[in-house]
This record gives sequence, structure tokens and C-alpha cells, in this order.
Amino acid sequence: MTDETPSADALRYQDHRGLDQVPAYPTGLQLQIGADLRVYVALSATELTLYFEPQLALHYDLEGRLVKVAEAAQFWRRSLSGRFLLTRKLTAEEGGGVVRDLVPVPTALEIIATAQRRTQEVHAAFSDGRAVAELGRPSIPEAAQRIAPLLALAAGFDALVSAHEAEEFQRIYGRVAVLPPDQYNALVLQVTEGCAYAGCTFCDLYKGVVFRRKSLEEFRQHIRAAVQFHGESLRARRSIFLGEANALTQPASVLKDFFHVLNEYFELPAPETPTAGVSASWWLGSPHRFDGVSSFMDAFTNPNRTVGEYFDLRRLGLRRVYIGLESGDAGLLKWLKKPATVDGVRRCVQMLKECDILVGVIVLLGAGGKEFAAAHVRETARVLNELPLARNDYIFFSPLHVYPGSQYNVQAMTDAITPLTRDEQFHQEQEIRLALRFDPRRGKPYLSQYELETFVY
Ligand code: SF4
Repeated sequence: MTDETPSADALRYQDHRGLDQVPAYPTGLQLQIGADLRVYVALSATELTLYFEPQLALHYDLEGRLVKVAEAAQFWRRSLSGRFLLTRKLTAEEGGGVVRDLVPVPTALEIIATAQRRTQEVHAAFSDGRAVAELGRPSIPEAAQRIAPLLALAAGFDALVSAHEAEEFQRIYGRVAVLPPDQYNALVLQVTEGCAYAGCTFCDLYKGVVFRRKSLEEFRQHIRAAVQFHGESLRARRSIFLGEANALTQPASVLKDFFHVLNEYFELPAPETPTAGVSASWWLGSPHRFDGVSSFMDAFTNPNRTVGEYFDLRRLGLRRVYIGLESGDAGLLKWLKKPATVDGVRRCVQMLKECDILVGVIVLLGAGGKEFAAAHVRETARVLNELPLARNDYIFFSPLHVYPGSQYNVQAMTDAITPLTRDEQFHQEQEIRLALRFDPRRGKPYLSQYELETFVY
């Protein structure tokens, strides 16, 4: 690499901003390669990114794994399990918004090959001195030194490496069926496998998975394997998510043992730190610090849990809990074969909030079709308004997907239930949102969509 022309214009990040002005990139190197190719190679606390002119960005994690390929109106995200998800902005003629689709394997292989060709081209020119460094941050020599090892790793990321990584992922996790959208960046650790109940008609997430709890020693081995697999990329992960479906419903004494194991391996916020008070500068960049532990929980398996037990778990690191309310309508819950009661959910949320544990409540859009729609909207809004939700909590709206032959499908046909279209589900979400009233002293929770179909980890 040469650095003979250190006074070129910085490549653009947004219309008004050069890449060298992006504060998230403390390290950056702008290269001119031959007559036609200019690229800005940026290193942040979370990733290495190659910005090409015009409008192509290749993102790699801190282990050199391709994680995202972005163009102007669409991007492909590669999950640790090796699957690719395409997110595409729709034009005004197409109706606006975005669509997400899982990418077929041959297309995924093409994406990997194309990305590798581009990154290898940059790496080769960088290594053999053909690349001219136009800009460097904090300086050209320092940026080159910091970027070189990761650029070499990224240039070696091909279909074989991707397949090997996917196999490793499968060996450690089996699979990760779903996470709440605000936990996509979590380090997942599985205390249990499957769902202890697995009887809700609308849920196929854990079908065929025999429920079991790991022993403490197995859990330790799982942690060690996961930590090794994630490697340097752990520096970018914010929280720990305890899988699978309802790990938190294990007896409190058992759970405490698992939390003690977590505390052997990781540093979690001190008990006195308010949940919302953990700043990113505390965990970002550290491979063993996380801003708390999160998990799903059903509100029916353990009806006698006490607030003292939640306090103990919070002291050991629990900071966020996600509960599937699905609906506030008791008749609909019964029809869905969800054993939870509205009172049970209310009691759980009340106790969690007393302990300064954030809560995410999930609502199932379209459940029970047109026949249940009016009661679903009315009762769900009523219950959500009664819950002591506050700023930084979440209400998620998750659209129902019905598969031919599923338990829900059979039940709906038997009871002549008319399904809601996607537009009608969206309308239902708007109706619930419009009926929500939050106590201004507590603040408003986030309202967000929760799409299970296009989840990848
Ligand atoms: S919705 Fe939750 S409790 Fe019901 S089967 Fe699925 S994972 Fe289990």
C-alpha cells in the first residue's frame, strides 16, 4: 500500500456527510485502486465495513464473517446459521414500505462469492502496494495496521467457511427458533430446549423438540462452546438471551443456579444499577460484559412465583422478560388453547415492574379471525391499558401465519373461522394502537412489529 496522495475527497456516507466524519468509525482508510475503484474501509467497535462507489457496502463481524451486503434500496443479512434474509424497500408504485424474504441457497452462494471477489480485490491491492491510501483515520499508518488482520480474514470468507460456520452453529445451538426484535443482537444461551407446554394451536416454533433442561455442567460446556464460536464478535453483542421458549418458568432455586453460572463467565451490571441506566460504553467493545439477561416467559407454568424470587433473579442479572399475552380476550385464549389467563399476565407484569425488570408483551394479530376480531381488539387494548407498562417496555404486534394442516388451521376450519388478510391484520393493529392510553408519569412503551416468519439469528 502507498500513501502518496493524502488529500482526496472522502467518499460519501450520506448526501451531506463524508465517511471520514462518521463518529462510529474511529478507524478508516480510503483507498484508490487502479483508475476505477475507490473504497473506504471502516473499522468500528462492532464490525469491518467496505464501502464501494457507488452504493455497495459489505459488512463483516469482528471474526471476518460476512454479516450484511447493502445496496441503495435493499440489503441481505447473513445469519450465524448461514441463512440470508433480503430486506427490500418498495417503491411508491409498489405501495411503499419494506418486504423481507428468506433467500434461496443458490442465491446466497452467489452473494457470498460476489462479496468475496470484491473484498479479495481490495485485500490484494492493499497487501501488494497497488492501493493508494487517500485518507486515514486516525492516520494512514495506524488505520492500515489496525485494519490489516481483519481485512485478511474477511477476504478469506467464502462458501466453505460459511458452511463450516453454519455447521458449528448447528452443533452448538441446534437452532434458534425466534427472538424478540430488540434482542436480535443478544448472545443466545440455551438453558432449556423446546417449550415445556407446546400446546398453543397457533405456535409451531418448537414442534418436534422434546422439552428438556440442561444440567449445570452441560450449560457450562454450552457457554464455553458459544463463547468460542462467537469469538471477537461478542464485543458487539449487548445482552444475554436465555433460551428456549420459557426458560424462566423453571423453579426459582434451579434458575438461580443457572444465573450463578452466568456470573462465573460474564460480567453483568451491578444490582443497584437501574435497568435503563446501563450505558453502551460499559458493554460495547468488551467480550464478557453484557447489559443484562433477557428471556421469554409464559405466565401460566409457575403461578406461585413471588416478587422476592424476581428480585433475586434481578440481582443476578435478569433485566428483560418477554411474555406472550396474545390476546386480552379470555374466550379467544381458550380457543387458542393458551392456558394463560389475563390475571396471570397482569400479576407477572406487576411483579416484574416492581423489580425494575423491563417487560415486552406480545399481541397476536389476526388471532381467531373475523369471528373473534371485535372482542380481541377491545379486550386486548383494555388489558394493555391496565398493565403498568412504562418507558423502555415494549408492546409487540406479531401477525398470525396459518399453515395448511397446522392445529390452528384444523381448528379454524372446524369452527368456520374467517381468516384476516394481512391488510386486515394491519388494520387490527391500528385499532388496538388507537385505543391505548399510557400514564404520562410512567412514559410510553415502544410499540413495534414482531415478524416471526423472517427471523434469522
Ligand atoms: S406460544 Fe409459547 S407457550 Fe405456547 S406453544 Fe409456543 S412457545 Fe409454547
